[in-house]
Amino acid sequence: LPRDLYGSERANSKGVEFGHRASLEALLGEIRKAAPQSFRADPLIDGKAVSGETRSVVSPIDGATIVGQVTEATSETVDRAMAAARAGFGSWSRTDAETRAKALERTADLLEERRGALLYLLQTEAGKTLDDALSEVREAVDFCRYYAVQGRTLFGSGEAMPGPTGESNVLRLRGRGVFVAISPWNFPLAIFLGQVSAALMAGNAVVAKPAEQTPLIAGMAVRILHEAGVAATALHLVPGDGRIGARLVEHRDVAGVVFTGSTEVARIINRTLANKDAAIVPLIAETGGINAMIVDATALPEQVADDVTMSAFRSAGQRCSALRLLYVQEDVADRMIEMIAGNARELKLGDPRDVSVHVGPVIDREAKDKLDAHIAAMTARAKVHYAGTAPASGTFVAPHVFELNKPHDLAQEVFGPVLHVVRYRANRFEEVIQAIEGTGYGLTLGVHSRIDATVNRVVDALSVGNVYVNRNMIGAVVGVQPFGGHGLSGTGPKAGGPHYLLRFATEQTVTINT
Ligand code: GLU
Repeated sequence: LPRDLYGSERANSKGVEFGHRASLEALLGEIRKAAPQSFRADPLIDGKAVSGETRSVVSPIDGATIVGQVTEATSETVDRAMAAARAGFGSWSRTDAETRAKALERTADLLEERRGALLYLLQTEAGKTLDDALSEVREAVDFCRYYAVQGRTLFGSGEAMPGPTGESNVLRLRGRGVFVAISPWNFPLAIFLGQVSAALMAGNAVVAKPAEQTPLIAGMAVRILHEAGVAATALHLVPGDGRIGARLVEHRDVAGVVFTGSTEVARIINRTLANKDAAIVPLIAETGGINAMIVDATALPEQVADDVTMSAFRSAGQRCSALRLLYVQEDVADRMIEMIAGNARELKLGDPRDVSVHVGPVIDREAKDKLDAHIAAMTARAKVHYAGTAPASGTFVAPHVFELNKPHDLAQEVFGPVLHVVRYRANRFEEVIQAIEGTGYGLTLGVHSRIDATVNRVVDALSVGNVYVNRNMIGAVVGVQPFGGHGLSGTGPKAGGPHYLLRFATEQTVTINT
């Protein structure tokens, strides 16, 4: 097994070979078996469901199928959850790291055992293809095991420091208090669990607010965490919309916020935290990006076409890491664009439960309307290289490939299967670097070039969280490609990396005059 930074051994969870018929059939069987149950998510305080008004959660696949019921939290529920978390923090933070780690490892085991139901929810509640859904369950499992392993070492008995004057000095890490975790719909299991498991491993109590579009899978995850040994008093769930998130962040007892979502909301959270007449607390934010890929004339065309297709259109482009802006060297641009458009044409759009489908729906009507408006604006002012057609029902958006005259024609992240291409001349390469840096974002970056000097120049010049050279630029693997960005893309911590847990902790030095 590979060893990580702290010398612990751990392996990531295994995949399923879809090309192997029996394995695929077995997996589909697990999903079918899990399908008939009725799912629900309620606010959970100290492990008890809070009653209230319920609403149906509707599948984005057809805009009609009811996946389950959610009871949304009220402001009063938020206040009760925060009070319960504050009360629960003391004993959870004193629970030894080994016990906390074991609870996360048991969580990982249960996630694997109940994979069928989780896959069912990822497909029907979030509209994911089987491939994406399975990757997501694996990532969630990996987060739990990874933070458990890291946490055992980091949150053990502490680090003995030198005692030159005869005193004993110990430096130890502890939880901060009540962490608020606000997670997105695009990874409703993996990011939800990544945030929550890290905060819990570091000894915090957690109040979690999942995205309003995907509360059911979060509800299932919380029940699994409790069953696995996370104290019911340490983890509380408050489903709801942005108002519930705002109420949480405003609360005076917040000791830290971990957030994944838009840059705009991250800014609001940051302002709210700063303006409170309360302790100064950290914000761990992972937001979006206008992620670019640079392709020069030495790149391998077939590989570029495949990597671009995967990076721009997989998950219907609904990953923060997805490729938005492709810079292609003029000399090879016509051929590259033609191959990319050809690949886009081959993508099958539709019900993601059909294993031959590549692109499922976008998350909801609002997302579709925004994307459709962007596509209409681009169709009017950019060159259209490919415009797919989407099924009429549900919230589908077909892949599109546009060519822009200038990179700054794309001012904002477009969260869907829309690729923008810009040509550059070899002698204006530095302008490409400046344009990318000029966006202010810094999440992912792709480079396709066989020239080391070019690759090095790009990697050094750009302040970007994750750089991928001669491959696709999505799907960071826990413990392998720690993930997170800078600038407008986030506050920098790397999910699935060896320093992540430190951001959730305080440090305490104990000096004893012996
Ligand atoms: N970690 C994911 C990836 O590498 C993206 C996470 C996100 O979209 O928030 O593709």
